[in-house]
Amino acid sequence: MSAANYYIKTNRAFTGLRRYAWIFTLLVAIGGLWEPKLGLLVLLVMGGLTVTAFFSGRFWCGNVCPHGSLFDVILQPLSTNRKIPDFLKSKPMMIGFFIFFMFNFGRRVMGAFQAWGTYSFLDRLGFVFVFTYLVVMMLGGALAIFANPRTWCQFCPMGSIQKVSYSLGKTTGVTNKTDRLVTISNPDMCHKCGKCARVCPFQLEPYLEFNENHQFDNANCIRCATCVENCPAGILSIENPATAMELKEDPLPAGYLNRQHITATITSINDLEEDLKEFTFRFEEPSEVHYEAGQFMLVKVTENPEAYRAYSISSFGEDHQHVSMIIKKVEKGYGTEIIFDQFKEGDKVELEGPMGDVLVPEAGTEKMIFVANGIGITPFIPLVKDVLENRKDVKSVKLITGQRYAKDLLYHDYFREMDEKDERFEYQAIVSREDAAGLPRGHVTKLLKEINAAGSKAYLCGTKVMVVDAHRILTEKGLKPEDFFFESEEKISELPGTEQKKTA
Ligand SMILES: Cc1cc2nc3c(=O)[nH]c(=O)nc-3n(C[C@H](O)[C@H](O)[C@H](O)COP(=O)(O)OP(=O)(O)OC[C@H]3O[C@@H](n4cnc5c(N)ncnc54)[C@H](O)[C@@H]3O)c2cc1C
Ligand code: SF4
Ligand code: SF4
Repeated sequence: MSAANYYIKTNRAFTGLRRYAWIFTLLVAIGGLWEPKLGLLVLLVMGGLTVTAFFSGRFWCGNVCPHGSLFDVILQPLSTNRKIPDFLKSKPMMIGFFIFFMFNFGRRVMGAFQAWGTYSFLDRLGFVFVFTYLVVMMLGGALAIFANPRTWCQFCPMGSIQKVSYSLGKTTGVTNKTDRLVTISNPDMCHKCGKCARVCPFQLEPYLEFNENHQFDNANCIRCATCVENCPAGILSIENPATAMELKEDPLPAGYLNRQHITATITSINDLEEDLKEFTFRFEEPSEVHYEAGQFMLVKVTENPEAYRAYSISSFGEDHQHVSMIIKKVEKGYGTEIIFDQFKEGDKVELEGPMGDVLVPEAGTEKMIFVANGIGITPFIPLVKDVLENRKDVKSVKLITGQRYAKDLLYHDYFREMDEKDERFEYQAIVSREDAAGLPRGHVTKLLKEINAAGSKAYLCGTKVMVVDAHRILTEKGLKPEDFFFESEEKISELPGTEQKKTA
């Protein structure tokens, strides 16, 4: 097991309502101490969540709930973000706490009704809600800080009411039309990286539980879309059942048709730089696997939960019996800590792949610009060789790559040699953190501004910032959305044409 934290803190407030709904909690829980009638507003909350749940499960919890907003927006930065203890998620806890809560709440409401018909009745009733809101804020807040932001929500009585309302909606068949669930466009394109589980506020595991309609039908899902926003493959969305069925009909892209489960042995681990190693695997079962330059493979890092990491193929695949990947150790990275600390030569590992076709150049492409930064250079190592050797129709290939330091420029001499040997190939490197002999200083974008890109297709791989900037510069130089192909560890959704180019 890795020492790095499995769960990732990330933005969960994608709408104005989610960002600011916590103000309502403070208004009622604190303001209500001076003006108890403010507590009566909670009746609207209870009505709202019961009605929305009938149509769309715990949608309220992820999109409207003021306490949820407080936990996600204000308290998440302070949270230790640990695993939520299983017993707090259990049915006995949920039912037991519901009875305990409702008994006490009911007693207080009955007490307020003793003042029925008097001037103070509304104040007394309002204060019951104010008190409840304050207690939930303090108890839920403490759990948010010392455990996980959404710990309270696991046994929140309002969550239980929603689940009952939702099952009524399901029984009547209403949810078949109204319910929108997390949907995977195609499970065969999933990296099994578990990022959807690692960012999920409820610590659910969508990638392990999609049903036959490719939907995540879990009554605890709060439809917050945090998994959708973070899936590096860009294959998740929130859809109704009809749209999910349509998506299911979409054909699997060609680059995924040969995806298979592979048992392999690590034959060598070479240190390239500090925190950078090249791992070579020999295929065992099956003993031959065909892959193309520009594709990637998945490496299993944990069995429970089953999780893999995606790595671009850096080898040439001529014998179909081996594959290499260059892997950079990420600071506090969950998977790379396991790979670097536990993987040894001779070990048997599980792979899946090959996958991906985004960076595999289309037939008929005559001019190519490859742009990489950081570890994004790896797919271009076999790609440049493949294109120059096997694609005589290609008239020019430019590779523009950037690293922080000259020592990090992978395969620098190899690419320089190719540049000298083949007049169709041009190699340009740049470093950002030092003045290195013979190299310009800056980022790849600096070099991109100076090139002639007319009539080219651009293949981009690296950090999201670089991909977005490179896209903008090359667009200014006249490239159209259909001229771009990009891959990144992070999801890129803001660029035109992204929908057709899911990385994964
Ligand atoms: C198609 C594709 C190809 C790839 N090819 C390569 C390749 O050739 N070589 C390579 O080295 N990598 C490659 N990657 C990246 C690789 O898949 C992994 O993402 C990478 O190795 C990091 O894995 P990890 O588990 O160590 O990091 P993770 O733990 O998954 O961390 C990933 C990122 O999230 C951040 N993070 C992690 N935990 C937290 C937290 N608790 N709070 C906030 N932020 C957090 C980290 O800072 C890090 O930037 C590729 C990715 C894709 C999608
Ligand atoms: S690729 Fe997306 S759906 Fe698949 S495990 Fe990763 S985050 Fe989840
Ligand atoms: S599965 Fe996705 S939408 Fe559902 S609660 Fe988790 S992150 Fe939110």
